[in-house]
Parts: sequence; structure tokens; C-alpha cells
Amino acid sequence: MVNGEICSTWGWLRGPCSGPEVMELRGLLQSCQNVVLEDGTDKVGWDLDDYGCFSTSSLKDKINEVRLSHPEFRLKWNNWVPSKVGILVWRAELDRIPVMSLLAKRNVIVGSLDCSACGESEETTEHVFVSCGLAQAVWQAVSVWCKVPHIFAFGIRVFELYKFINGSKRKAKLFHAVCLVSVWCLWKARNDIVFNGMAVTVETVVGDIKALGYLWVKNRSGGASLSWEDWCRFKV
Ligand SMILES: [Zn+2]
Repeated sequence: MVNGEICSTWGWLRGPCSGPEVMELRGLLQSCQNVVLEDGTDKVGWDLDDYGCFSTSSLKDKINEVRLSHPEFRLKWNNWVPSKVGILVWRAELDRIPVMSLLAKRNVIVGSLDCSACGESEETTEHVFVSCGLAQAVWQAVSVWCKVPHIFAFGIRVFELYKFINGSKRKAKLFHAVCLVSVWCLWKARNDIVFNGMAVTVETVVGDIKALGYLWVKNRSGGASLSWEDWCRFKV
């Protein structure tokens, strides 16, 4: 106690270093601002109940409220690419891949949080697959190759991109496969830079997308007659 007020000091093992951590700390301090400590016995209350008592029904109501306010997430799978590709996209959609910002949140010591491809922004899932200059250039090249309007960044909801293509169901499914392979190759490029110190360019990533996409789609879609030349012109 100092002059009648309770004072405390932080005992950090590691100080907050990422944007989200600083924001969380700020939120915590703001929440504590209005806390008034009183003489008396400490007690535990349950905010979701008017009487401060825990009940499963109040918790269930809250869960339903949160669930109903968010549209249900559903990934559209595509059997023309390996399931590992779909699983990566699914994890990316749920923000569950080990990008630097998420690793730091889990107290993994990662050094710099900056994107290894551009160094201009913190490495988040959204940044790696959408807003990074490398990703933007790759999506631009993919949209030119597949003759679709330029793919603008709208989160990482790549499973919805097939809706933007005109033509047959087969063509839409092919384009959907290309988008999933693009996510796979962007993540591979990121890992090549981080773990192998490789120099990655837009051309190498797009080259990987075309080669891997052709290998997988040709063998899985029953498209034995699909030639490499037609694939490279997206005459499918
Ligand atoms: Zn970047």
C-alpha cells in the first residue's frame, strides 16, 4: 500500500512484443481501471447470471448467441488435390497455422515477427496468404492465367473463389483446385524462405502452382488428355 492505494509491479518472463499482445495488455489495464477494492471477503461471481451464480443454461445461451452471430464456417473440399492441401487451407481459414504472430502468442520465442517475404508487416495468416506483396502478385498472376477478374484480397476465403469463374462446373472445380494449390505453394514458399533461406520470387511460386496443379489435377480428375500446353493456357 502506498498512500492508501494498492501498487503492484509486473514480473514479466517476456514483455509483450507483438501488436495483439500490447492491445491485450492495454485492454486489461483499462478493465482494471474501474476496479474498486473493498474491505470484506473475496467472492467469485458469474457474470452471465443475474444473481452471479453459475448455471449451465446461462453458458449454453451465451454459446448459442455467439454461434448465431457468426455464419457457420464450411470449407469446400476438392478431390482433385491431395487432402493435405485441403487440410492446410482449412487450418488457415481457422487461423491455426504456425505463423510468427501466433507462435509468439503461445510464448514460442521466434525472434522477429516480421514477414520473411517482404519484411514490411507482422507475419499473420492473413498477411501470408492475402496482403503480402508476394501473395498479391501471385494471386494477380493466377487471375491472369485463369482468365478471371483480378482476385482482390478478401480474407483467405479461397474456397469461395470458384464462384467467380464463368463456364462449366468442371472449369469452376479446376479453378477452385488452382486456388487451393496456390495457398499450398504460398505456404511452401514461406517455409522455404524461413527454414531454407531460399530466395523466392513470384515466378517460382507461380511455376510451382502450375506444375503441382497439373500433376495433381491430371491424375485425379480423369483428365488424361489434358496437355501441359493447354493447362498453361488454362484451356480446360
Ligand atoms: Zn509480407
